[in-house]
Amino acid sequence: AKALGRGRYHIFDSTLHVAAINTLELETELHKAIKEQELVVYYQPIVVLNTGKIVGFEALVRWQHPTRGLISPHSFIPIAEEIGLIIPLGKWVLHQSCQQLQTWQKQNLVDDSFFISVNLSARQLTQLDLNEQVDKILHDTQINPECLKLEITESSLMENPQIAIDILQKFKQRGIQLGIDDFGTGYSSLSYLHYFPLDTLKIDQSFVKQINETSKKLGLVPIIINIAQILEMNVIAEGIETQTQLRQLLSLNCKLGQGYLFSCPVNAEEAIHLVSSNEWQNLIP
Ligand code: C2E
Ligand code: CA
Ligand code: CA
Ligand code: CA
Repeated sequence: AKALGRGRYHIFDSTLHVAAINTLELETELHKAIKEQELVVYYQPIVVLNTGKIVGFEALVRWQHPTRGLISPHSFIPIAEEIGLIIPLGKWVLHQSCQQLQTWQKQNLVDDSFFISVNLSARQLTQLDLNEQVDKILHDTQINPECLKLEITESSLMENPQIAIDILQKFKQRGIQLGIDDFGTGYSSLSYLHYFPLDTLKIDQSFVKQINETSKKLGLVPIIINIAQILEMNVIAEGIETQTQLRQLLSLNCKLGQGYLFSCPVNAEEAIHLVSSNEWQNLIP
């Protein structure tokens, strides 16, 4: 959300509806939203770029507001973060996503290697019992830790690197997959990166957008992919919208990606339908 000063925020929903409401009002409503289950998890496919096969989903929360419609996380995650509500919210998203995966596993709609990727916020990383919280959710939902991936932004890793390293190492020992999110948009120093036990590097969509349609210039994408290779991390490209971007990413040996070219985030029912329908063959060059 864009702070407009004097405690006002602009709310943008997916239909471009714009309204300005008071932060305080939003806070009150967000508390209520969590209690009254107005939050909903959407899922965006993560795809093997040269086959179109869906190997996992990223879980992305939305707020189904009774009067304002579907509200984007950009409008409420920063506020939830500020007032600490991100803690119960984050736990809820994680629980919900793991439970959904378990349902799909039981119905044999996904294979054993299918993963769910959940965003962790900076504030969650300061929770001393975060490892136990995640363990409990894995235990309650009976999810294999290897099917869970946690996405942590570069900037939240760098807020307190030592604490982050400790927490990540415990996750790693459990077998949970770890990814660095929004890579290149934070302020981390490259020399720090190899201290974090990370499996995946996610290229932020701002870099994928730099792939030029006409000049075929690639911007910083090749460098970011190189960094990932040197650090022995897998790469996921985010925000793939065009055939050109797909083709260029493939030529750079980027294996995985997500973006509107394949699908925007959708509800659970539509998401699992995409897994079985396998309709992206024609996109692959
Ligand atoms: P993110 O983690 O970088 O997630 C990717 C965002 O890019 C998502 O926005 C997704 O819908 C969008 N996206 C995917 N493909 C494309 C594309 O081809 N074009 C464009 N223009 N956008 C694309 P979304 O769902 O609105 O989420 C925004 C941010 O809110 C996320 O950015 C993440 O930082 C945060 N967020 C969402 N859900 C959660 C959550 O459960 N917990 C936390 N802590 N943060 C969350
Ligand atoms: Ca993410
Ligand atoms: Ca992110
Ligand atoms: Ca991003």
